[in-house]
Order: sequence, then structure tokens, then C-alpha cells
Amino acid sequence: MEIRWLGHSAFEIVSDDNVKILIDPFISNNPTCQVPVEELNPDIILLTHGHSDHFGDALEISNSTNAPIAGIHEISLFLAKQGIRNISVNIGGSFIFRNIKFTMLDAKHSSDIDIVEETVPGGSAASFLITFEDGTKIFHAGDTGLFGDMKDIIGGIYKPDVALLPIGDKFTMGPFEAALASMWINPKVVIPMHYNTFPPIEQDPAIFANFVSQFNPNIDVVVMNPDEYFEFNPEDYQD
Ligand code: ZN
Repeated sequence: MEIRWLGHSAFEIVSDDNVKILIDPFISNNPTCQVPVEELNPDIILLTHGHSDHFGDALEISNSTNAPIAGIHEISLFLAKQGIRNISVNIGGSFIFRNIKFTMLDAKHSSDIDIVEETVPGGSAASFLITFEDGTKIFHAGDTGLFGDMKDIIGGIYKPDVALLPIGDKFTMGPFEAALASMWINPKVVIPMHYNTFPPIEQDPAIFANFVSQFNPNIDVVVMNPDEYFEFNPEDYQD
């Protein structure tokens, strides 16, 4: 499958069957995203939480493409009130869409929906594990601090092949914590996100990569540029 970073925590993942999954579509106000919002034509949109740098253009994109938005119960309620197609899910639960399994997992962060004038409660912040038909699993951590279940549950039970982890610090893990998270989750590939979008989250991804190589040199750190593609082929990483 193909993984395209749109900057910040926004990713487009295209399955081998050409199902387009758009995660945390912060596009038009994202200073690092060069992709026009009209260009995106997802089959489904995932929201890890309600903050505007993740919710982004989800309403507009769903309106123009009719792609459903999957999010936690409270976000779904908000979407339903706006007349938006939505899929309600909660932490620990899964649903299947176009033969792909989506599991909502934990994140340690806050959430309200702040794209509207009066902010609306957004439930808990969450993460997503996407399991494709061939068994390949991609984990998008959302915004989070380091927490112990990354080791026992996410790494120990779900075992993602690719992990997308925030490294920006201040609002999420920084490079050191994200490298520890990498070691605990133990994916084949880790891709840093949620950094260098704004001055408060400026980071050098090489520092993160260096920590990861110290903690577990078997993990491949893939540092992407916004609007870059990474093709993940499970055969390249068989032990
Ligand atoms: Zn956030």
C-alpha cells in the first residue's frame, strides 16, 4: 500500500485495492501542506480527535465526496447534527469498511471540537489501527503522550507493521518519548509526524531516528517530506 504524508498528522493511505483512507485531514490551513483540498477524493476519513489541526477540512471533504467520517461517539454526534455521513466507534472497538478493518485504540491527549465558535466536547482522543486484507497493519497514533499500553496492548497484541508517531513535543511526545514508543510498539517501519508545522513543534527528525537506532536498530525510520509517498511492501520486511 501507498502512504502519502500531507504534513502534520494528515495522511492518505491507498490500499492495494485502491481504497483511499484519509486521516486527520488538516489541509487548507496547514502551512506545510501543498495539496489543494479539492484534489483529495477519499473513500473514508478517520478523525483521531476534534482539535482543528486534525479535524481540519473533514466536513468540506466529506460534503464534496460523500466519504463517511469515522470518529469516537462524541465526534459522531457532532457530525450527525451537521448531516454528515459518519461511523461511530469507540476505544477498543472495530468496524469493517470495504474489507478493511479499522480499530480505535487509546491515546493520551485531550479532545474538544474547536473548529466551531463554541467548542463542543469531543470525547477522548484516540488512535487508529488499520488492518488490510493481506494482514498488513498501519497504526496512526493521533496526538499522544507515552503510555504503558503501547508496549503491552498496541505492540504486544496488535503488532502494527507501520507506526505513524508524533514527535513534535509540547502537545505530544517529543523525539525521545516517540523513540521509546517505537521500541515498545516494535513496528517494521516508523514514520514521524506532527512536527515542523508551527514554531512550537519544531524538531529535527534525525534526533528521533538516532534514538530509535539506539533503542532498536531493526526498526526502519522513514522520514518523509510533505506530499511525499512511501510504498510499504510487506515482502521487503519479512524476517
Ligand atoms: Zn490535539
